Amino acid sequence: MTRIMPGTGVGSAAVVAPVHRLADRPIQPPPTRRKKSIEEEIVALEAAAKFVQELLQDRAASATGEIADILIALSAFAADPALLMAAKAEINNGWDSPTAISRAAKSFAQMLQSAGGAFAERAADLDEIALRITARLTGQEWSVELPTSGRFVLVAEDLTPADTSQINPKIVVGVITQKGGPTSHTSIICRQMGIAAVVGCIQALELNNGDVVLVDPVGDRVVVDGDLSDATEALPIVDPNVPTLIPVYGNIGNQKDAQGVIAMHGAGVGLFRTELLYLDAQTAPTIAEQRKIYESVFRELGTRPIVIRTLDAGSDKPLKFLNLADEENPALGVRGWRIAGPQPQVIFDQLTAIKQAADATGADVRVMAPMISIPQEAHAFAAMAREVGLKHIGIMIETPAIAFAVRDLAGHLDFVSIGTNDLAQYLFAADRQHNELVDFLDPWQPALLRTIKRICDDAARINIAVGVCGEAAADPLLAVVLAGIGVNSVSAAAPAIPGVRTRLAMADINQAKQAAELAMKASSPTQAKTLVKSLLS
Ligand code: PEP
Ligand code: MG
Repeated sequence: MTRIMPGTGVGSAAVVAPVHRLADRPIQPPPTRRKKSIEEEIVALEAAAKFVQELLQDRAASATGEIADILIALSAFAADPALLMAAKAEINNGWDSPTAISRAAKSFAQMLQSAGGAFAERAADLDEIALRITARLTGQEWSVELPTSGRFVLVAEDLTPADTSQINPKIVVGVITQKGGPTSHTSIICRQMGIAAVVGCIQALELNNGDVVLVDPVGDRVVVDGDLSDATEALPIVDPNVPTLIPVYGNIGNQKDAQGVIAMHGAGVGLFRTELLYLDAQTAPTIAEQRKIYESVFRELGTRPIVIRTLDAGSDKPLKFLNLADEENPALGVRGWRIAGPQPQVIFDQLTAIKQAADATGADVRVMAPMISIPQEAHAFAAMAREVGLKHIGIMIETPAIAFAVRDLAGHLDFVSIGTNDLAQYLFAADRQHNELVDFLDPWQPALLRTIKRICDDAARINIAVGVCGEAAADPLLAVVLAGIGVNSVSAAAPAIPGVRTRLAMADINQAKQAAELAMKASSPTQAKTLVKSLLS
C-alpha cells in the first residue's frame, strides 16, 4: 500500500529509487576521566583504531578514483603510530579512551594547521578519524559513506553543504531530509545539481534502507511504494527562442553549473556564489588561484552577463580559512560583507582576482556584495570595487533595513539583487534552516512581496535595475508576480530555468501586474498562490 509523506519539493522531475539512509553523526561524549585500568583502555583503543582502519580499507577496495584515494588516506590516519602514541599518553594522564583519542587528534590537527598548505587540509580528516574511533569505543553506529554505485534516494535528518557537495547526482538521484526548507542549502544545492528533493519532510526518518520511494517534488511529497505514473505533472517546456517577459538568468557555484545554465538557455548568470568554491579550503586562496577559477567560469558565459558575488562567508556557510570566532547567533553575526571589517584584504584580493579574470576574458562581469544592512556599507563596497577598476557594481538586498534605504544608494550603484532567502529569514525573524518555521519563509508571503514592491519602486526612482536571485525566482508562477511587481530579471538554478522561462513566455505584462496586485493584497501565502493560479491558468 502506498504511503504519502508531505514536505517541500525541490525541482521538477520525479524519481523512483530505493532509500539509502545516512546515519546521524555520532556524539562526542564530554571529556571523561578514566575509570578502567590503563591497560584496558589501551586495548580498547587499539581494537577500535584497527576496526576503523580495516573498515576504511575495505571501503577503499570497493571504491574508485578520488573516493578510493580519500578512504585510503583516512585509513592510514587511523593506523598512524604517532597518533596512537599520543592518545596512549593521554590515557596515562588519566583520560578515558574516547577523550584520549579526541585530545590527541586535536593537538595533531593544530600542528597540521600551523604547517599550512596541503598539511592543513588534512586536519579535518583527523577529526573524522577521532570521531570514528570514538563511535566504535562508545558503541555508536556510523555510516556516512555515500553509495558509490547504483541509484538511490538519500534520506537524512539534514545535509551540510560539505555533504551535499560530495554527492554524485548519477548515483544519488533523489534526496529527502527531515529538516530544511525551500531556501536551505540542501535545497539550493539539490536544485543546482538537478536532484529531485523533498525537504522538511517530518516523517523522513521513518524510511528505511531498501524502501522504494517516489520523490515527487512538484507534488511536494514522497510516496512510499509509489510509481512514476503517480508523479505530479510539471509544465511543458517552451521553445528557447520564445522571448520571456523579463530575462531569466542562472545561479551557479562553479564552472559546471555555468555550463548547465547555458544548456538550459539562461540569459547569463545572475548569481555566482563564490564561497561555495572554498568551503573546504584551509588556507585563503591566492589572487592567482581565484583568477584561474573565475576565468574558467567567465569563459563559459561568452558575451552573456555574469553577476559574481563576493564571499558570503559565515553563518551556515563557514569558511575555515577565515578563522572567524564562534558566535552565539551566526546568522546575525559577522557574515557576508561584514567580514570586510576585520579582514578587508580578503575581499580586496577577491575583487582584484575578479577584475583580472574579467580583463583576461573580456566577459561582461558585474560584482555584488552580500549581507548589506546600511547604505554606508554599500558605499564602501562600491568604492573598493571601483578602486580595483570594476565598473558594474551592485549589492544584494537581504536585510529589511537596506530594503527601506534603497534611495540612499543613488549615485553609488548600478543594480540591486534581492536575496529572498535571507530577506525572508530576517523579515520574519525565522531561521531559514529551521524545518518548523518553513511557513514563515514561504516566498509567497504577502509581506515579503510588499517589501519587494517597495524596493522596486525606490530603485526605479533612482534608475537602477532590480533582480531577484533567491529561491523565489525558481517558482514559475511567482516569477510572473515578480515581473508584475517591477523586478527587471530573475535568476534561478539551471534545472529551474526552463519552467520559469515557460511561465514568463506565456504571460503578458498586464496579466503580470494583475497577478502582482492579487498576491500583494492577499492575506496569506496560500491565498496569494490560489488567486494567481486561477488568474494565470
Ligand atoms: C538569498 O539569500 O536569497 C541568496 C540568494 O543568497 P544565499 O542563498 O546564498 O544566502
Ligand atoms: Mg543570502
